[in-house]
Amino acid sequence: MKVVLQNLTKKFPNRDRKKHEDVIAVDNFNFEIPDGKLIGLLGPSGCGKSTTLNLISGLVKPSEGRIFFGEDDVTDLPPENRGIGLVFQNYALYPHLTVKQNILFPLQNFKGKDKLSKAQMLEKAVEAAKLVQIDELMERKPRELSGGQQQRVAIARALVKMPKVLLLDEPLSNLDARLRLQTREEIRRIQRETKITTIFVTHDQEEAMSISDMIVVMKDGVVHQIGQPQKVYDSPINMFVAKFLGTPPINIFNGQIRDNRLYIGEDAVLSVSGVSERAVYVGIRPEGFILNDEGAFRCALNRVEVMGRDISVVSTNKECLNPVIRSIINAENRADVETEQSGKDAVVRFDLIPAKVFLFDRETEERVDFEVR
Ligand code: ADP
Ligand code: MG
Repeated sequence: MKVVLQNLTKKFPNRDRKKHEDVIAVDNFNFEIPDGKLIGLLGPSGCGKSTTLNLISGLVKPSEGRIFFGEDDVTDLPPENRGIGLVFQNYALYPHLTVKQNILFPLQNFKGKDKLSKAQMLEKAVEAAKLVQIDELMERKPRELSGGQQQRVAIARALVKMPKVLLLDEPLSNLDARLRLQTREEIRRIQRETKITTIFVTHDQEEAMSISDMIVVMKDGVVHQIGQPQKVYDSPINMFVAKFLGTPPINIFNGQIRDNRLYIGEDAVLSVSGVSERAVYVGIRPEGFILNDEGAFRCALNRVEVMGRDISVVSTNKECLNPVIRSIINAENRADVETEQSGKDAVVRFDLIPAKVFLFDRETEERVDFEVR
């Protein structure tokens, strides 16, 4: 089922009584979510992710705009008539019911011609439990399950009615790191198997990038960029998006375009064209640095961290806005720095990979295009 968001806006009265203007939690969101895809809704805390999800579910009414499921306008339908499945961060299972009873629960209020027999309900419950691999645990109570298992029960309960749209709000936030990794793979697998259009809310960029067909990056209620994770990473529209995606994060420097060169401090780090002389912010991804003794970009070597296959060279430069510069250097390129590492005033020199370098306007922080000469 495709989901269309049309000029979707939600304003809340300001909780701070002294401020009279409303909080715009979601600001004119337009998006056609393709059928059968997994969409990652991503952004820092308070950016409007949950509100967007709650608008789609019907738990919150929009101030303006419409929502369509397929061709049907569902804006005025209550949540229970939208055919959605919901999963939240806190699993919200009924503690006094068994796993089986929890999963059966949504099926029991079907009325009239939709009413199911006991056997039919059980069949559906077992099917959903199998999908999330908890069919061995059907007789247990929630307290007898781990966090990961409880979240699987919550997912099974959301899936048992075969919703048209599955909405997940930070479903992995209560799980430990290992389970989080495993469960996100599970969600991806289940989504592929069922092909249910799924919207997955998270503040964790890596989580969203790893499982989504498309990501939506939000800030302060405004959608900044929508696209395939790799495309957004490779071509961020502004500095906020560039900074939000990637671990370690992108390194930001003060830079200057002068004489067809990009300068960082005194170092002419790239020959460029197609961009006017101006002050810019320069973003360099950690994987955009190549160690080279003759490299134009000079930084003060701080330390080298071994990361197994790669090494991380940590350095500083007075033009850098991050506390330190983090560069990831692959195995073939690593020999040089190890011999140079000693000494307090050691300098490390880099060449830059142009595709990993972005320029941003100093005022608007929008991306500035350039060509490499
Ligand atoms: P996120 O899920 O991205 O952390 P939310 O959608 O929960 O963000 O909130 C977006 C903004 O709307 C925040 O500024 C939040 O304080 C505000 N907000 C959310 N719900 C309400 C509400 N019921 N009343 C007033 N303000 C709200
Ligand atoms: Mg939220």
